[in-house]
Amino acid sequence: MTFDYDLFVIGAGSGGVRAARVSASHGAKVAIAEEYRVGGTCVIRGCVPKKLFVYASHFAEEFEDAAGFGWQVGDSRFDWPTLIRNKDAEIDRLNGIYIKNLQAAGVEIIEQRATITGPNSVAVDGREITARYILIAVGATPFMPDIPGIDHAITSNEAFHIENLPDSIVIVGGGYIAVEFAGIFNGLGVETTLVYRGPEIMRGFDDEVRQHLHQEMAKKGVKIMTDSDIADIKPAASGGFDLTMADGAAMHTGLVMYATGRVAKTDGLGLETAGVTMAANGEIPVNAHSKTNIDSIYAVGDVTGRAQLTPVAIREGAAFAETVFNDNPICVDHTIIPTAVFSQPPIGTVGMGEGEARAAGHDIDVYAADFRPMKHTLSGNEERTLMKLIVNKADDKVLGLHIVGPDSGEMIQAFGIAVTMGATKAQFDATIAVHPTAAEELVTFKQPRG
Ligand code: FAD
Repeated sequence: MTFDYDLFVIGAGSGGVRAARVSASHGAKVAIAEEYRVGGTCVIRGCVPKKLFVYASHFAEEFEDAAGFGWQVGDSRFDWPTLIRNKDAEIDRLNGIYIKNLQAAGVEIIEQRATITGPNSVAVDGREITARYILIAVGATPFMPDIPGIDHAITSNEAFHIENLPDSIVIVGGGYIAVEFAGIFNGLGVETTLVYRGPEIMRGFDDEVRQHLHQEMAKKGVKIMTDSDIADIKPAASGGFDLTMADGAAMHTGLVMYATGRVAKTDGLGLETAGVTMAANGEIPVNAHSKTNIDSIYAVGDVTGRAQLTPVAIREGAAFAETVFNDNPICVDHTIIPTAVFSQPPIGTVGMGEGEARAAGHDIDVYAADFRPMKHTLSGNEERTLMKLIVNKADDKVLGLHIVGPDSGEMIQAFGIAVTMGATKAQFDATIAVHPTAAEELVTFKQPRG
């Protein structure tokens, strides 16, 4: 049977774009459909604009810190429209590069929504297209609970485009997107409240990391309400919104943002018509080679629910292309994934948390330091840094490494190599410290915690 394409990719985000380009480089005839903007969540309304906002929001603290070093910073004023304009220009630039790179690789870009109509066919704008393989790389979309007035709330999608910065904001959620945006708005001078229904923010991270971040965010002025939730949102006559909390308390805020998780974007995708199995939450189960239960249909990235991170989606996309179009079967190892959270202060983490290591049956030594970074001896800033190593007593291997403090995202990329390689505490100790840095703590730990 002949097909229009060797590969039809649905979704031009992190996973889809990489898979399309690598497949084309192996000689496949490839088309990619995108219903919003080429680049996907990460580039258009995720990692990239978020990090630019984090930079923007940190200046206020830098200006304050400068005084202790002798600088008199004049009256500073922040202009939100300038940030939005400059951020949009950068996103347009990146969008253009993604389009150019796909075209240079010989991939046909179809800027339309695509749906699946069979194991080897998709529909685009009423037209049926056939392909030997279909790759589903549609990503995920913000989940919002069904409460009265939820339509008045924004998600991260809209947060990148709000016209006026509000005086106050309530952010609902306790995961990384919630804490990152809480830091952003707080840094930009918005009175920020984080509302989370669980007992502590950042579920799934090391408990001490969670508590440390909570404490540091609170010191910077973010009001964190745990075991709390919104029951109802009503526009207020005076502007902003009146909130009724689950416990009956009343609150008023200028803006409400939900960051309560993301769900696979499989609604209406036509998976049933091709017989693709879907989990109850909409995610697509795949095997180690990212193949669905249908031989001609693969899925990568957030839609598979393995790890919702760009570098993971990119690896999965590349592995798919190598496996299917280069006769080079590759599986992505999801067991150790270094991660950064661009909260303020940021988190860098790789491997197991203390509780997780114990729960897995490891007999561990824990090395930890909670200290005031050198910069803040003069700045007067009260921020403290946490560094933590989890070591397996049986073989001395570092099972987990956790940092809450400045530049921890940069540090964890390098430490991630050592932990992924299975480095031991003795090898950490044999590494000569870089002085004066914060990271040297991690190679100079002497005594485990009693
Ligand atoms: P996406 O990048 O989401 O791409 C999917 C694409 O498919 C989208 O462009 C969508 O429009 C398109 N699409 C969907 N359905 C169809 C259809 N039927 N037809 C055509 N096109 C379709 N990850 C990190 O690693 N680091 C970070 O700092 C980070 N920060 C984030 C911050 C925010 C606010 C958010 C929301 C996410 C962040 N992420 C971060 C996660 C990261 O963006 C995702 O893990 C990554 O984009 C997943 O890639 P993907 O290819 O699976 O999907």
